Amino acid sequence: MAGGPPSGHVPSASLIQVLRGAEVYAPEPRGPADILLAGGKVAAIAPSLPALPPGLAEEHDLRGLRLVPGLLDAHVHLVGGGGEAGPHTRVPPVTLTQLSRAGITTVVGVLGTDGTTRSVADLVARTLGLRAEGLSAYCYTGSYELPVPTLTGSVRKDLVYVDPILGVGELAISDHRSSQPTLDELLRVAADAHVGGMMSGKAGIVHLHMGDGPRGFDLIQRALDTSELPPRVFHPTHVNRNRKLFAAAPELVRRGCTVDVTAFPPEEDPGDSLYAADAIDRWLADGLPVHRLTCSSDGAGCMPVFDAHGHICAMDVGRPATLSDTLTELLARGLPLATILPIFTTNVADLLRLSHKGRLAPGADADLVALDAAGRVDSVIARGRWLVRRGETVVTGPFERSHP
Ligand code: ZN
Repeated sequence: MAGGPPSGHVPSASLIQVLRGAEVYAPEPRGPADILLAGGKVAAIAPSLPALPPGLAEEHDLRGLRLVPGLLDAHVHLVGGGGEAGPHTRVPPVTLTQLSRAGITTVVGVLGTDGTTRSVADLVARTLGLRAEGLSAYCYTGSYELPVPTLTGSVRKDLVYVDPILGVGELAISDHRSSQPTLDELLRVAADAHVGGMMSGKAGIVHLHMGDGPRGFDLIQRALDTSELPPRVFHPTHVNRNRKLFAAAPELVRRGCTVDVTAFPPEEDPGDSLYAADAIDRWLADGLPVHRLTCSSDGAGCMPVFDAHGHICAMDVGRPATLSDTLTELLARGLPLATILPIFTTNVADLLRLSHKGRLAPGADADLVALDAAGRVDSVIARGRWLVRRGETVVTGPFERSHP
């Protein structure tokens, strides 16, 4: 391969950096401001910071750009998804630059339909690998299926003992590919996630894959009706996969759940589904609570289209880039950045209980994305390290250079 052996090490961050003159959205608008980064954290934000002695700090002029928190993507098939149409349809793993170039500085990995040829052990290893490559990475334990495949043999132990594991997911309901979970089975998993989350100070959520089945959110509604579990534990995704499901989402939100829209690839015929930008646009137009909405890419997930008999008639693959593309599209439609930004940052961080993520404030991790005038990703800083600078990839994963 070109460029020496794979090291897996990113260049160390300059200890002190000053980013000057960008329009800062924290996500609330802070106007043109300077940001001081120190030791991988945001140290200060002020309209104008004094010059530091030469040689002490690295200076960056970001005038003309908008500086926002790094995006959080809470649903990426880090080891690849798919496999639903045979071994040749297993999607390859996600690379560092697929994430970084989409402005994603925090990612949560999921398995998917295939918990047979893929394992939680592999997912945890890839998650730790991405951390070494410079991102902030977490994952869920489990897959579509029940009993939940785990690393330690129990959901609760996975949460308590395995650092990157934040909850259970993506557990499938209302889908012919699910394990057809009963209410009691869902409640048991959700209780383990919730209590495991309490014991470990983690999110303890169940990230639920919603299928196209007519039962929709019924199982979640009944779980809320019949248990003491807090609504925040249930985080359904793909809620924009069909119009009926999307129309039912506000009722779940009214009960206290946060719902997740998927940024489906745009070249796919949307059919009855809504593109993420359309779904978010409609959500805002209907005056629904923005703080209860998140968006994820389903990166490296396989998106098969089934006929009535469960046969695959078409297939596409999710890409992390659709997350930032959705943000760009919403800005192009004239929606205010400060309004839509929480859907990609703060809301996700709050649900995942990652208090050091999703906002620009002193003490937060130095995860930042600079957007150009068109709302596209210009530069990306993750934990104080530049991964993308003025459109150029600065850091690649250890094996990416052999496939430029
Ligand atoms: Zn899914």
